[in-house]
Amino acid sequence: MIHESFKEKGQRQQLVNSLANEKGITDKNVLDAINTVPRHLFMLKGLEHFAYIDKAYQIGSGQTISQPYTVAFQTQLLEIKKGDKVLEIGTGSGYQTAILIEVGAKVFTIERQKDLYTKTKSFLPKLGYNPQMFFGDGYAGKPTYGPYDKILITAGAPEIPEALIEQLKPGGCIVVPLGVDSQIMTRATKQPDGSLLTETFGNFAFVPMLKGTANDL
Ligand code: SAH
Repeated sequence: MIHESFKEKGQRQQLVNSLANEKGITDKNVLDAINTVPRHLFMLKGLEHFAYIDKAYQIGSGQTISQPYTVAFQTQLLEIKKGDKVLEIGTGSGYQTAILIEVGAKVFTIERQKDLYTKTKSFLPKLGYNPQMFFGDGYAGKPTYGPYDKILITAGAPEIPEALIEQLKPGGCIVVPLGVDSQIMTRATKQPDGSLLTETFGNFAFVPMLKGTANDL
């Protein structure tokens, strides 16, 4: 059972209106998903009232829940079709994961921070979201369940990891913020010959995609 008041529904609708009218998000399925997922439940205690402000917030372990605009923009770039198999790198709070499920994806998601993985693994099913969740290093992907129709990286990556390109279906795309200090949103589509066709979509700011796994706070 999702707990929310008319106030939260109203704030969420306002956020969706601003994403559509001021920030250029056009995909109706993406806007509907943002309007459905209760972002306030993904926030740390005490920060819930900021949930429908278009900003990133701390979620613990030095990580952040991405800004709604960024989540909407990346989801829109993926052009999800119902039933698409999507590999997400960087589960974090699970907010982006829930949005992917709402637009019809079958989601496989990897998180390298043990505490976030554990928390989100028990939290998402309570809202009725049941992705396959893994603790591990997203640089290696998850070959067992691949290949994937789409891959999404939700952390700033220095380059597109080779293993992820291998796990992408021909015709599929990977959406990744590329760069170390700041990132350029990039969509790379795998061609039939295995090469990548790359498009760029402007500057964004992400926490870094790190190697290995971490058990610390
Ligand atoms: N999309 C999520 C989290 C965004 S922050 C949300 O909106 O809540 C990026 C996340 O990527 C962090 O949780 C971070 O721990 C994770 N991450 C960074 N490098 C990773 C890697 N190599 N493998 C898996 N997860 C990684």
